[in-house]
Amino acid sequence: MRVPFVDLTAQYQATREAVDNAIQAVVASGTFIHSAPVNQFESAWAQAIGCNHAIGVANGTDALFAILRSLHIGAGDEVITPAWSWISSAETISLTGAKPVFADVDPGTFTLAPHDVALKITPRTKALVVVHLYGAVADMPALQAIAKANGLWIIEDCAQAHLSTAHGATAGSFGVASAFSFYPTKNLGAMGDAGAVLTHDADLAVRIRRFVNHGGLTKDEHLVPGINSRLDALQASILLAKLPQLPAWNAQRKRHAAHYQARLAHLTALQLPAVAEGHTVHLFVVRCHRRNELQAHLQAHGVSTHVHYPSAIPFEPAYASFGHQLADFPVSAKLQQHVLSLPVYPELSDEQVDYVCDCIQHFYER
Ligand SMILES: *Cc1c(COP(=O)(O)O)cnc(C)c1O
Repeated sequence: MRVPFVDLTAQYQATREAVDNAIQAVVASGTFIHSAPVNQFESAWAQAIGCNHAIGVANGTDALFAILRSLHIGAGDEVITPAWSWISSAETISLTGAKPVFADVDPGTFTLAPHDVALKITPRTKALVVVHLYGAVADMPALQAIAKANGLWIIEDCAQAHLSTAHGATAGSFGVASAFSFYPTKNLGAMGDAGAVLTHDADLAVRIRRFVNHGGLTKDEHLVPGINSRLDALQASILLAKLPQLPAWNAQRKRHAAHYQARLAHLTALQLPAVAEGHTVHLFVVRCHRRNELQAHLQAHGVSTHVHYPSAIPFEPAYASFGHQLADFPVSAKLQQHVLSLPVYPELSDEQVDYVCDCIQHFYER
């Protein structure tokens, strides 16, 4: 049996008619930028998350960058961000001229550890970039309390948390603004790059919309130096066509996660993630003994897995100049040795999940 890590062609088959019609309509319209599908998707996504304003952008990384820049974060400022995340949540801080200050993560949820965040605050700290990693929502009550006590913005990176909920709200509606990615393999994915910023703040929404459109809301307005980072009509229409399926896809991922839990919980060599009520599953990340050997064993048996991530961000060459040691982030340092992401895409069959479990069991019990 072959179990790929993701299968985007299976997803296309399941939505083929809607997606093909959407693409055809855009092509026939001859309007590819600033068009009706973009506005429609922005409204639909703002409503889905529970925010007043959505701004479509070219990708999730630009969404983060646009938020930071539009909050006037820059040289001389510090922004606290998790050591354990995808690179975007740190690199965008660096690109503003501000300094990313890394905090370790909680070993249960893989998200910012509030006690470590509290230790990293200085008079220069302006904001927290909170990442809801793998679908788990960060400890928002604790982080919001810290932010409030210190006058900090909370910026949410929701690239892996489409429709995750906690504490009675949806990820992306807690902070001053949130960034979403619709990279093809995210829980809601475009057929290319795409992203969005959400915010409750009308004024910030306008500043972000200007920043990502050469500094103005219309073609010949340039009030500030900006960038070109837009969601285009093709991607917006594809996202609109796929959006109705998102709850069912999320439910499928969660069902596969429960299946893995039921089959693998007894293995002492594995530590399974706790998927809380309301949280979604973007990645199903186990911690395991002999990770690299297990990954090779699975690959040899036709099962593709990935490591998210091979290195915590402070230990990447991009941040070598910060001089961090493993002991600075003990949880992240351990995660980089032990994490393995198992296939959890919606279209997996129960037989495929069982087969992955059989292979893992065989590896540890042979
Ligand atoms: C995917 C991802 C991003 C960036 O999204 P792009 O659309 O690829 O730029 C940012 N943060 C996290 C945690 C991600 O997983």
